[in-house]
Amino acid sequence: MSSYDLIIVGLGPAGAYLGHRAHARGLKVLGVDRKDAWDATYGGWVDELPGVPLYSRTKPTVRFGGVGRVLEREYAIIDADRWRSQLLDFPIVIGEAEISNANSVLIDGQKHLTDVVVDARGMSYVAGQPLQQALGWFIDSAPDAWMDFRESTFLYSFDTPRGRVVEETYLAIADFHSWGELEGALSRRFPGKKPREVERVVIPLGRPPASKSALPFGARAGFINPITGFSLATAIRMAEPTLDALWGHGTLPWRTRAFRADRHLAELLQRALLNLEPPRVQHLLRALLRLPTPLHRDFLQLGNLRGTLVGMALVFAQVPLSTKLAIVRALVKG
Ligand SMILES: Cc1cc2nc3c(=O)[nH]c(=O)nc-3n(C[C@H](O)[C@H](O)[C@H](O)COP(=O)(O)OP(=O)(O)OC[C@H]3O[C@@H](n4cnc5c(N)ncnc54)[C@H](O)[C@@H]3O)c2cc1C
Repeated sequence: MSSYDLIIVGLGPAGAYLGHRAHARGLKVLGVDRKDAWDATYGGWVDELPGVPLYSRTKPTVRFGGVGRVLEREYAIIDADRWRSQLLDFPIVIGEAEISNANSVLIDGQKHLTDVVVDARGMSYVAGQPLQQALGWFIDSAPDAWMDFRESTFLYSFDTPRGRVVEETYLAIADFHSWGELEGALSRRFPGKKPREVERVVIPLGRPPASKSALPFGARAGFINPITGFSLATAIRMAEPTLDALWGHGTLPWRTRAFRADRHLAELLQRALLNLEPPRVQHLLRALLRLPTPLHRDFLQLGNLRGTLVGMALVFAQVPLSTKLAIVRALVKG
């Protein structure tokens, strides 16, 4: 007989959120992670983070070649430590887990039985797959920036619970770049500044490996948006429908045709981004961020097929003709 309804392997934001919601339904949940803290700086759109404790929120400014524009949509830095401790209100173990089969998990060598095993072990970067790469410096002060583009990278700068971070980012690239390139870009923006701490960010933008026996969730289930690198909002949105599907009716929400088709479209767009010259990428992003909030939200929301189709059509209509042709060539080339 099973000891648990659900064992969740991996207590990053996705596993922790799912466990929290399952526990709230009265299910018997056990969570396991080898780490006892989250070390990333997390952010997201306020309208997609219901109930998440926020460290700060702002209407962010986007800059393409110096000209700034304030977006109408609020962006937030998450208070990650507080969120983690709020979510982990169910039994957890800090240890190394191995998924044996669909109903059992070895935790530090000890076998635990369950009705459902969730694989929320996140995703590791595999060389040759597309990625988002960023270098963050913790420094004393700098003006806020959400997406300040210069050539092929952009600056992101906010106060976080760990201090002020300035981060130079390649949104989507086909291969790993040397950290020195991003370091050079930060040094040009902040001449003479020495960081007191450095954060190296690698977000895999490819497909996750198949979870053989367990049910994948979070980054492991393909929730990382192939264009933005974000996944937290998708994990939040998918949690209740996932539990409904497991303990009631309905289909697992990321296994629907619409979700898969939408991910496929996002991968197509990613292919265009990977093959376009930096000024053309900026044309695309500028057009995307000019869409009214509901349209750009629906465009970027993974699983929203209609939103992506409408957004793609509107963005394509807005970019210059030379960029339209470059997009078509980039898609054919990919
Ligand atoms: C530095 C960084 C910053 C990011 N910032 C954002 C952001 O601002 N907004 C956003 O939406 N997305 C962001 N992302 C992308 C993505 O949302 C994150 O990767 C997010 O953490 C994915 O959540 P997850 O719970 O699915 O996986 P993870 O957070 O990767 O969690 C997986 C967990 O599984 C544990 N684990 C793995 N294997 C085992 C094992 N065998 N035994 C026990 N435990 C195991 C790991 O220790 C880890 O805690 C960021 C990614 C990175 C790397």
